[in-house]
Amino acid sequence: MPDEQNKHRVVIVGGGFAGLGCAQKLADHDDVHVTLIDANNYHQFQPLLYQVATSQLAGTDIAHSLRGVFADQDNVDVHLAEITGVDIETRTVRAKDGKSWSGDALVLAAGSQPNFFNTPGAPEHSFPLYSLDNATRLRSRILGLFEQADSDPSLIDRGALNIVVVGGGPTGVEVAGALGDMIKVTLPSEYRNLDHTRARICLLDYGDALLKPFSASAHDYVAKVLDDKGVEIHLGTGVKEVATGHAVFSDGTVLPTRCVVWGGGIKAAAVAADCGLAQGRGGRVDVRPDLTLPDHPDVYVVGDIANIPDSDGNPLPQLGSVALQSGTCAAENIIAGFDGKKPKDFRYHDKGIMAMIGRHAAIAEVGKRHHEIHGELAHMAWLGVHASLLTGTRAKIESFVDWAWDGFTKTGGPHVLDRGDAAEINWDDDPTVTPSGTESATPISG
Ligand SMILES: Cc1cc2nc3c(=O)[nH]c(=O)nc-3n(C[C@H](O)[C@H](O)[C@H](O)COP(=O)(O)OP(=O)(O)OC[C@H]3O[C@@H](n4cnc5c(N)ncnc54)[C@H](O)[C@@H]3O)c2cc1C
Repeated sequence: MPDEQNKHRVVIVGGGFAGLGCAQKLADHDDVHVTLIDANNYHQFQPLLYQVATSQLAGTDIAHSLRGVFADQDNVDVHLAEITGVDIETRTVRAKDGKSWSGDALVLAAGSQPNFFNTPGAPEHSFPLYSLDNATRLRSRILGLFEQADSDPSLIDRGALNIVVVGGGPTGVEVAGALGDMIKVTLPSEYRNLDHTRARICLLDYGDALLKPFSASAHDYVAKVLDDKGVEIHLGTGVKEVATGHAVFSDGTVLPTRCVVWGGGIKAAAVAADCGLAQGRGGRVDVRPDLTLPDHPDVYVVGDIANIPDSDGNPLPQLGSVALQSGTCAAENIIAGFDGKKPKDFRYHDKGIMAMIGRHAAIAEVGKRHHEIHGELAHMAWLGVHASLLTGTRAKIESFVDWAWDGFTKTGGPHVLDRGDAAEINWDDDPTVTPSGTESATPISG
């Protein structure tokens, strides 16, 4: 085994699907030393964030210590740091606290952040769902609203049980369906005196269908399932403004609400701008087919932060499977480079797409030909795929125990209000919402 001095050094920014996939592949090579840096000390499984937010899973089911993942791998060092500067020429990254790391190869895998599309008030007052922190905050806000409406039902007139979900993509649809189940099925047994039929979930999307990439029959199925769960679907409608106590829809509706869930879109993580490189669609970094930057064969950009071309040159979607496969491919190309071989172009193996719409309801398009299935079968496929992707056996067992318990008892998982700050509300801070009703006190133009 080469001594430390003679090892090839690789620096990876981001321990999501892409960075983790890359580090795990590189860790198999004794002549490589990996430095993995993340702003959190854990890897989070984003596809299941909505289940944490709606009390179906505990946060620890979907987040894993990065140091723990590499505990048995001496050639991988993990650092907790937020990278705020990148020098592409020297393959050096700098952290907020002044520390820096350089490598023979650099991998940028910092993922995405919410895109509020300049909607006034949305960054301050809405609840995005892109991190574990976001998910626990949203859970506490929802439970806090139920607590407050339970102790003072007059708050329902001021929007205590109105939830607005922005975005009809997978994030918005999955969270809306889960909220429908939470409000109809799991919470009533705990808030016995609260009239849960007064709760409203409004799902908004500017488009003409939810889950647009799926087929027309899938669109009909999704709309029916959500309707059965009591979700109000507003197509061709977006949110124009989010305030402390209300949201303004693009059709002029003013709805009192203390919970606007933002699933409206994503853009590249801030690091993309720190590189000083031109940013393409979604603020992402355009990469070559082999995942490197033009003129920088030792700098790889993978996962959500990159615009990765498919074999026809079109950008691949921001998906966990694309991120994982691109991270693994970058590792293989880095090893090829160290061995004096040519890198290969990334080829995405498309295993299909799926979305969960609530208890026992899902849609999936599986395989290369995207064969479509709905209902319980798709639900089982969803469970299998997501459990197999979770990092670590303990998490898989715990998630299945939570899902099974929820399925049999209909009590839901942990209804834990552990973020007091997120549940705290000053009910008099929005003059637009009057104590007696839901009408706007100030005229708002449509
Ligand atoms: C709510 C939700 C549901 C989803 N559902 C699905 C689904 O069902 N199926 C699917 O395939 N995909 C799904 N996706 C998309 C999928 O999760 C992403 O495509 C995938 O996580 C991208 O992986 P990544 O490694 O590129 O980025 P991420 O997973 O976002 O990881 C990026 C990492 O970089 C770190 N980081 C960021 N900036 C810095 C910095 N400056 N310094 C240090 N570290 C930094 C972050 O802390 C994070 O750990 C979903 C996404 C969301 C948000």
